[in-house]
Amino acid sequence: MLLLRCPQCKQTMKYQATDNKPVEKKVKRCVYCGKNFKIRQNVEKIL
Ligand SMILES: [Zn+2]
Repeated sequence: MLLLRCPQCKQTMKYQATDNKPVEKKVKRCVYCGKNFKIRQNVEKIL
């Protein structure tokens, strides 16, 4: 599991990959502000 930080509102959220595909191109929608951001560049921590 990854801990992601939104580049816009700086909130952190957990992300669980549901398959084994590489995360390079994956996008997460921030649960706080709704911004879509790339996972790879915004990993705060690997849990
Ligand atoms: Zn956000």
